[in-house]
Amino acid sequence: MNKTGHVAFIGAGPGAADLITVRGARLLAQADVVLFDALTDPALRQLAPAARWLHVGKRGFENSTAQATINALLVRHAQRAARVVRLKGGDPSVFGRLEEELQALADAGIACEVVPGITAASAAAAATLRPLTRRGGGRSVSLNTAMTAVTTQAGDAAPVARHADTEVFYMAGKQLLALARRLAASGWPADTPVCVVSRAGWGDMLASDHTAATVAQAAVLHAGRPAVVTVGAGAAPAVLQRPASCEPLQAATEAGRAIDRGF
Ligand code: SAH
Repeated sequence: MNKTGHVAFIGAGPGAADLITVRGARLLAQADVVLFDALTDPALRQLAPAARWLHVGKRGFENSTAQATINALLVRHAQRAARVVRLKGGDPSVFGRLEEELQALADAGIACEVVPGITAASAAAAATLRPLTRRGGGRSVSLNTAMTAVTTQAGDAAPVARHADTEVFYMAGKQLLALARRLAASGWPADTPVCVVSRAGWGDMLASDHTAATVAQAAVLHAGRPAVVTVGAGAAPAVLQRPASCEPLQAATEAGRAIDRGF
C-alpha cells in the first residue's frame, strides 16, 4: 500500500519572496514535493532546494494546467511523498480554486492544512499607502473577480449591485473596458476614485489613479502584468502630504494621468 502524505497549501504572498509568512516558509523548507503557481517568486526555491518543484501555473487566458489535472497531480504526489506543498500566489483562500483541491484531497482521504498568505488587495493597499477600510465612508470591502463578464442579451453590461464601500477587482488586466461599463451599470458615479496596481509587492510595482469612467485607460500602463483594481473609498489617497518613500508611486501615477490625458 502507498504511504499517504500530508498537503500544506501555502500562500506565497503577492510578490517578492519575503512576503511569505514565517509559518509558510518553515513548512516549505520541509517539503518533498512543491506544486507551484505562475505568480509565485522563483526565489522561494531557495527555501526548499532539495524538493521536487513542479509548475502547475495558470495565468488568465494563457495556456494553463487544467484544474482536474492539478487535482489529480496533488492526490498522486500526496500518495507517494510524505510532505507535499501546494504553493499558491497571494492567499490560497482568495480566487485560488482552493475548494476544489481540498475536495479532491478529502475524497482521497489525505490530510491537509492551509497557511494563509498576503492577498493582492492587501499588498496593493500597503504599496500605495491606501488603507482598504476608512473610518466613516469605508466600512466594507468586497473582493471580486473581473472575469465573470455579466452581459445582457444586447451585449451591454448587466447591472451588478455594488457590494461594498471599497470593491477590489482581481483578474482585471484584460477586462478594464468591461469593468468600466460594469462600474457604471452598478451605479458608481463617473468620478469615483479608482486605483490600479500591478505587481504589488514587487520592486517594479506600478500604480495609477483613474476614475470609474477612465479606468480602461490603465490598460496600456499595466499591460501583461497581474493587476488589482480598487474602486471607491479605499482607492483615494489617504495622506495629503507625500512622504519621500512614495516617489515611485508618484511617478507611476503621473504616467497613469498622462495616459488618461491621452499622451
Ligand atoms: N490568490 C491570489 C489571487 C489569485 S487570482 C491572491 O490572494 O492575491 C490572480 C489575480 O490576482 C491576478 O489576475 C491579479 O488580479 C491578482 N494579483 C496577483 N498577484 C498580484 C500582484 N502582485 N499585484 C497585483 N495583482 C495581483
